[in-house]
Amino acid sequence: MLYVILPSYSVIYRSALLNYLCTIKSAFQVTTQELSKLKTFLSKPRKIAIIMHKSPDGDAIGSSLGMYHFLNSFKHKISVISPNAYPEFLKWMPGTKLVLDYSKKAAPALAAIRAAELIICLDFNSLKRIEELGKEVSKSKALKLLIDHHPQPEDFADFALHTINASSTAELVFDFIELMGEKKKINKNIANCLYAGIMTDTGSFRFSSTTIRTHNVTAELMEHGAETTKVHHLIDDNNRESRMRLFGFALVEKMKIFPEYGTGFIALTQSDLKRFDYHDGDTEGLVNQPLSIKGIVFSALFTEKADEDGIKISFRSKNTFNVNLFARAHFNGGGHLNAAGGSSDLSMDETIMKFLQLLGTYREQLQAE
Ligand code: 5GP
Ligand code: MN
Repeated sequence: MLYVILPSYSVIYRSALLNYLCTIKSAFQVTTQELSKLKTFLSKPRKIAIIMHKSPDGDAIGSSLGMYHFLNSFKHKISVISPNAYPEFLKWMPGTKLVLDYSKKAAPALAAIRAAELIICLDFNSLKRIEELGKEVSKSKALKLLIDHHPQPEDFADFALHTINASSTAELVFDFIELMGEKKKINKNIANCLYAGIMTDTGSFRFSSTTIRTHNVTAELMEHGAETTKVHHLIDDNNRESRMRLFGFALVEKMKIFPEYGTGFIALTQSDLKRFDYHDGDTEGLVNQPLSIKGIVFSALFTEKADEDGIKISFRSKNTFNVNLFARAHFNGGGHLNAAGGSSDLSMDETIMKFLQLLGTYREQLQAE
């Protein structure tokens, strides 16, 4: 796997990146020469497949469509593939109609991957995150480019632009465009998509992942036409009444708070979701709610899956309680320091029991926060 060192980053940012790269055995730094190979490769029209992770969020869609609009200006033949459906409140993004949903239309998505000369994996770094499509990607002889900011990347790409110090994959797509020497190509569509990715993954610039670089990139996106207020309205003020009522119900009836562990959780069954006319993405952001209570540093959302057995879990934390490690160790998942996810094959009650027992073992760590 090749790693790009970003030239324009501050010394602190760069050294953090270098430290991180030192922990990856196979990593080595891409030189300007190697970068120019990718440029040469892209200098003639290519068949490109852009793939985002399952249950894509604003960053997955925003970075994928931002990349799509950028590459489209070079006349490549590009397919954008999502493993499954994505939330209504992200469907305003320019290019959204082009996204191939593999769960609904497998054939064109598979055909696009099989025909691709370049596969770009955005906002994930483990082929497990794209489920069945992972097999297709690993089988493919295409050149693979990974752009991502999650910890512990797998070594499946030929070329990677990766750091855990970026707020979002969208921020790294901006870096990619800059490294290609093509910032002038950034238009309103690219700027709005990348802004949406940055703004959603940083919780509107409030999470600790937000850096000086994040704000500088955002400023540049605004110079290139990002309509920031409009994007906030389109994402935040676009709810169905039933979604708001689901939130109300979850907070009143389903949220459990354990002050002695600095922890809160919400558990929603399929019948809860049906009662409030659940649509994909409706619970987005709900897991953050317990964290707004004073003293709560760790939050979980348990959601009963619709189409298969088991429970989907989201974890969030404040400060140094590492939910990435927690999700990896106990719930077959992962993510970042303060935002992670996983799953459980147990029933809802058993999953909650397991979680509560684990809280006991993490008590000291949670109380120290
Ligand atoms: P969410 O709770 O919004 O689904 O996910 C929060 C973060 O955790 C995201 O950055 C996402 O990439 C990561 N994540 C969510 N579910 C999983 C999972 O099952 N496995 C891994 N490795 N990461 C996950
Ligand atoms: Mn992301």
